[in-house]
Amino acid sequence: MNVAQLLARSARVHPERAAVLLGERVLFDYRELADRAARIAGYLRGQAGLKLGDRVALFMHNCPEYLEVLYGAWWAGLAVVPINAKLHAREAAYVVEDSGAAALFVSEDFAEELTGLLPGDGPTLHVPGSDAYNALFESAPLALQSCDANALAWLFYTSGTTGRPKGVMQTHRNLVTMAACYFMDVDAVTSDDVMVYAAPMSHGAGLYNFMQVIKAARHLIPESGGFDADELITLSQRIGGLTLFAAPTMVKRLVDRIEAVGVAPSGFKTIVYGGGPMYVEDIRRALDVMGDRFVQIYGQGESPMTITALSREQLAERTHPRWAQRIASVGCAQALVEVMVADDSGNAAPLGTTGEVLVRGDSVMAGYWGNVDATASALRDGWLWTGDLGVMDEDGYLTLKDRSKDVIISGGSNIYPREVEEVLLMHQAVSEVSVIGRPHPEWGEEVIACVVCRPGARADAAELDALCLAHIARFKRPKEYHFLDEMPKNNYGKVLKTELRALINAQ
Ligand code: AMP
Repeated sequence: MNVAQLLARSARVHPERAAVLLGERVLFDYRELADRAARIAGYLRGQAGLKLGDRVALFMHNCPEYLEVLYGAWWAGLAVVPINAKLHAREAAYVVEDSGAAALFVSEDFAEELTGLLPGDGPTLHVPGSDAYNALFESAPLALQSCDANALAWLFYTSGTTGRPKGVMQTHRNLVTMAACYFMDVDAVTSDDVMVYAAPMSHGAGLYNFMQVIKAARHLIPESGGFDADELITLSQRIGGLTLFAAPTMVKRLVDRIEAVGVAPSGFKTIVYGGGPMYVEDIRRALDVMGDRFVQIYGQGESPMTITALSREQLAERTHPRWAQRIASVGCAQALVEVMVADDSGNAAPLGTTGEVLVRGDSVMAGYWGNVDATASALRDGWLWTGDLGVMDEDGYLTLKDRSKDVIISGGSNIYPREVEEVLLMHQAVSEVSVIGRPHPEWGEEVIACVVCRPGARADAAELDALCLAHIARFKRPKEYHFLDEMPKNNYGKVLKTELRALINAQ
């Protein structure tokens, strides 16, 4: 099935329901959204000459047009290639070229930077508001094209904390499975809900549109086009029923602001967090300040948003004897996938021991675009090897350790940076921390901590050392502390440990 079918259905059943909002203003209802998508589809398959299965790239900020372009491409039986709006024009051009996109939609302000960098002669359309873009809607609407459930729907370029990004082939089946799991494991969606796109629509936030389309609920693009805690608070008060997908750093900023302003969080229905580690201290505080509105998901582009989930109820079960361990975990396998922690040969590791996280099910990608070797190493016997290390407990809760390449091996012992980071974050003055390994002639590697303090606060190495001695084995203690003004991060806000290692080694 084609995911655009979900929009066609809602437009038929609930044509007058509000679909797309810019801030508080309703722009289109479901009938209009589907009509606009069908006309974009008419243009792409007509005047632009694209054929079934061709790719359409989007290098756009979060904006109301994002959804109609995604659905326009799907409606026409094409696949989308959403590109992170924070990428450099050269990086974006690489993605356009690698994907072989036959058409490109760009935000007006990117157009100039891209001049001369783009391959091929496919059309480039400036969004929003250009005459060429507005003229698309004069095209005759195309009938919804059917396509195989295993056809490519979304070519998702990995965020690339190392090396060049790879194109993950997500099929229509993968995306429908992700949406089905959301209803089973993440949240019950109602037609009164409002999905707010505060995180990049080229990534998890954009993937999380299908559930609201299925329920003919509202999609709200903030006027800022991104994450602004004050704007979200205002929207929560004026509109209410907000759901958002947020990286842990966004959650932290929102919680800080809600606490500082002293507003009631009742306008936020659900905050789904994931995409990177949520430290125990941070989720405890988030629950204290905002109440039981949080759900965690763990996924990766290769199994979009769908590996495990830690539900609202699980996070709320404060009296459970293992609550403290559970909130440090990423929860349990989502309903439609199998999750296993495996040893190097792919056999299930005993409960309680660390191994690589493997996933199998209909959410798992078809492979990497044009990269047979990378596909063969990630997909083995139907299982996706995630590259994440974790431990499964007897109740089915998975706790992530780290990416396998980030584990520090010192004197023959494995040290998982996350464990040390959790301890350092207990210090009141510490805002962010990242623990890495540095080559050491005798030990192989030694533990180094990079620390960012809260504005106006200070922590010294002796205090941090004392904290570690009180909580973890001596050999895991950082040998050095480096205090930084900010962490190097990639365009999705993930800490770049490779850059940190280079920085520390250069010192
Ligand atoms: P991406 O494919 O860019 O979405 O990155 C996926 C990676 O982010 C995963 O393989 C994990 O290493 C990390 N990640 C995603 N969700 C979580 C989570 N809930 N907790 C910790 N790490 C996560």
